[in-house]
Amino acid sequence: MVPEGSSMWLLRLLRDIQLAQFYWPILEQLNVTRPEHFDFVRPEDLDSIGMGRPAQRRLAEALKRHRSGIKSRNWVYKILGGFAPEQETTPPLDSSLGLPESEGGLKCLIPEASVCRGELLGSGCFGVVHRGLWTLPGGQSVPVAVKSLRVGPEGPVGAELGDFLREVSVMMNLDHQHVLRLHGLVLGQPLQMVMELAPLGSLHARLTAPAPTPPLPVSLLCLFLRQLAGAMTYLGACGLVHRDLATRNLLLAGPQTIKVADFGLVRPIGGTRGRYVMGGPRPIPYAWCAPESLRQGAFSSASDVWMFGVTLWEMFSGGEEPWAGIPPYLILHRLEKDRARLPRPPLCSRALYAIALRCWAPHPADRPYFSQLEGLLQEAWPPEGHCVRDIMEPGALRMESGDPITIIEGSPSSHSPDATTWKGQNSKTLKVGSFPASAVTLADRPAPRPVHRGAPGPLPGERRRGIANGDRAKPKLQDLPSVRGQQRDLSLARTKGTSKSLESVLSLGPRPTGGGSSPPELRTAKVVPEGPPAPPPRPPFASNSASQPSQPPKERGPWPKREPHGHPAGAPAVSKATAPSGGLLPDPELQRRIMEVELSVHGVTHRECQAALRATGGDVVSAIQNLKVDQLFHLGSRSWADCRRILEHYKWDLSAASRYVLARP
Ligand code: AMP
Repeated sequence: MVPEGSSMWLLRLLRDIQLAQFYWPILEQLNVTRPEHFDFVRPEDLDSIGMGRPAQRRLAEALKRHRSGIKSRNWVYKILGGFAPEQETTPPLDSSLGLPESEGGLKCLIPEASVCRGELLGSGCFGVVHRGLWTLPGGQSVPVAVKSLRVGPEGPVGAELGDFLREVSVMMNLDHQHVLRLHGLVLGQPLQMVMELAPLGSLHARLTAPAPTPPLPVSLLCLFLRQLAGAMTYLGACGLVHRDLATRNLLLAGPQTIKVADFGLVRPIGGTRGRYVMGGPRPIPYAWCAPESLRQGAFSSASDVWMFGVTLWEMFSGGEEPWAGIPPYLILHRLEKDRARLPRPPLCSRALYAIALRCWAPHPADRPYFSQLEGLLQEAWPPEGHCVRDIMEPGALRMESGDPITIIEGSPSSHSPDATTWKGQNSKTLKVGSFPASAVTLADRPAPRPVHRGAPGPLPGERRRGIANGDRAKPKLQDLPSVRGQQRDLSLARTKGTSKSLESVLSLGPRPTGGGSSPPELRTAKVVPEGPPAPPPRPPFASNSASQPSQPPKERGPWPKREPHGHPAGAPAVSKATAPSGGLLPDPELQRRIMEVELSVHGVTHRECQAALRATGGDVVSAIQNLKVDQLFHLGSRSWADCRRILEHYKWDLSAASRYVLARP
């Protein structure tokens, strides 16, 4: 409960502008008790309490005056300051909450006491998600999901807080039937996002659920893909890139409805190039990422389309992990140099796989738009039919007369159906197998909906792609992620062309294998404190099995020991002037050297620099060189000694050396 006295400021403010009659409606219906709460109140909310637009303007001005006199020291409000009402462009949240008229207009702030948390649903980058019950002012209870920001001993961690609040600000403005809805924010300790509950959990969990949970029908997977394409068309039209499209981030709001969720990595695509370039090394879900994202940290609607292709692959392979067993630093290599692509899953028809392959076109400009994908999916929709006689032959898909059948492979226009074998799914048993084409009669195929397949370009609002954001041009320095300080820019100049995200990948080392609801490197990198770098175990390379991408790269020797940091032959001598005899530097001097190394080697962590300096007895030059050799070595195709020679040849320009190595696997 808010103490009476705490809202006196509101009464005074309203009296000053002759709007005192709105005191109670603002307090009780809009839940506003502090000046900052007005950040979440939209014109429509004020309309709903009967305040006219001229009065609203008066109120806005009075608030501006009032707030200019208050300097909030609260970190939350400092960051939330970016969500001022005048920046909002899209409709309010209340239109489709499905709540009674008087209560549907939830204003973005929800009192802490009106939300109670229950069972744990999952955990993500910024914290945990609980099932919850939100009690509306009228007493009605709404089931919700409550995402709480993880708080460390010294308060929220900067990057996580930023992502959490960014997620709030993005979701506040979204309104689409296949995009998870945000109900509001609880400004408590911890901060909580109150969201629409997806009672059936994530699609990934459903896909990987063990028996006796039946597999999902192929036709339902196609429906999910169409819903996803629709939601992504909408996001693109809002000028946003999702950057983390995967089945783990698709939630099941009902048995036949998915919603796109997890907007923590969403970014606006700015400028004429229609893309977002990462501003610093951050974990990204590299197995889902397009090559330009891995190489340059560049994200666009086209890179989301690439991720859509990977998501399609996940759906039809039962939630398998893409590129499982392949270390992250090799994924880019495999995609670009070997032109490898994820293989066609058995449940996926050739027509659908052809769509995935189009999504994985090397050049972003050659990938379809989401609006086109909706049409392409319609055309690749698997035909439906009915079984006309019982099939009990061994080896054939068992079916009984009348069973509905989805055809995965087979040509409905075949001239001799008796001789033809089709592959399909019995929608009653959900079993997949082959059967004689003559056993099935095809239903009339619904005429494809008018869609945008033939359309040469994007829908209104979708960003037009071309060379500008097609990433065909060699990256220029100004395209690269901006980083702190001028010195950093100098080091960037040296690593021109090498993606920061790739360097994030490199610094993370190989991914652990195995499923899980989130890529471990993405989910854990933000929460697990970094330890000193250790030589990562060499994961077994996938063999040429049907379920693995073809052409594994040549085997390499075992990981080198880290001793090379201790200066193998040929390394510059440790400067007596810079290497302290005792090995332990006074703290400020150590920090200075760590900083120097960090600024010179793009993408390395503070701890890696510290360890490298320790190994070289404090010699900055050698530490820098060893770290660069490590980086190059992690690209995967050369020995450590080779990497050192190549770097020496390129005068320690890591970018040039990386390009050389990638071009000659
Ligand atoms: P996130 O932090 O968004 O990655 O969420 C972590 C996990 O919590 C997800 O993988 C889901 O299993 C679960 N979850 C998140 N949001 C919801 C929701 N709105 N409804 C149900 N489960 C959710």
